[in-house]
Amino acid sequence: MRIQSAQFYKSSSKANQCPKEDRPEYAFIGRSNVGKSSLINKLCDRKSLAKTSSTPGKTQLINHFDIDGKWYLVDLPGFGYAKVSKTLRSTFGALITDYISSRKNLMCLFVLIDSRIPMQEIDLLFMNSMIENGVPIALVFTKTDKLNKTQFSTNMKKYEEKLLEYWEELPPVFYTSSKNGLGSEALLTFIDDLNSKW
Ligand code: GDP
Repeated sequence: MRIQSAQFYKSSSKANQCPKEDRPEYAFIGRSNVGKSSLINKLCDRKSLAKTSSTPGKTQLINHFDIDGKWYLVDLPGFGYAKVSKTLRSTFGALITDYISSRKNLMCLFVLIDSRIPMQEIDLLFMNSMIENGVPIALVFTKTDKLNKTQFSTNMKKYEEKLLEYWEELPPVFYTSSKNGLGSEALLTFIDDLNSKW
């Protein structure tokens, strides 16, 4: 699948302000600087649809993009500056947790992970809680172009082992680079398949 048209649709500062749940949507989340905006732009074949390098402390918004008039791509706020605290809500904020627990049309939440960095507690906490709550997730490793083959396979093996300590099987996994385009087609094909089940 190739995206023909990608347009900004709406920013929401509260989950209940998000667009009507009348078509499938796919959300992207990860710690700040993980490469989320770059990947969204790559998938949409646009230079600056999603704003890169968001400033810490900036107003947190959920951004909906209309894709081909058929589905929404959702850019969720990065969670890198949060501290792990007692509840999911206090760690990731009301905006993110309300969004995830309420959107009935969320077909898949893509959790972005920087392939260069060892597993972070906050990522693991987030992924585990999504799985516990029955949220369909897929893992998206970013910036794979920054690693050589050996580093890449070593890092990915470590992730896999760590995750399999918690889970019986891995969710769908994608390896991507916004620089060389790795993984974009696989991601879009995955989305296309899910769209056909809507
Ligand atoms: P965000 O904060 O998650 O939206 O991250 P950005 O998309 O703004 O990316 C953060 C930094 O990483 C920027 O300097 C990007 O140019 C760089 N970056 C993002 N994706 C890639 C990638 O796939 N490869 C390389 N080499 N750099 C990337």
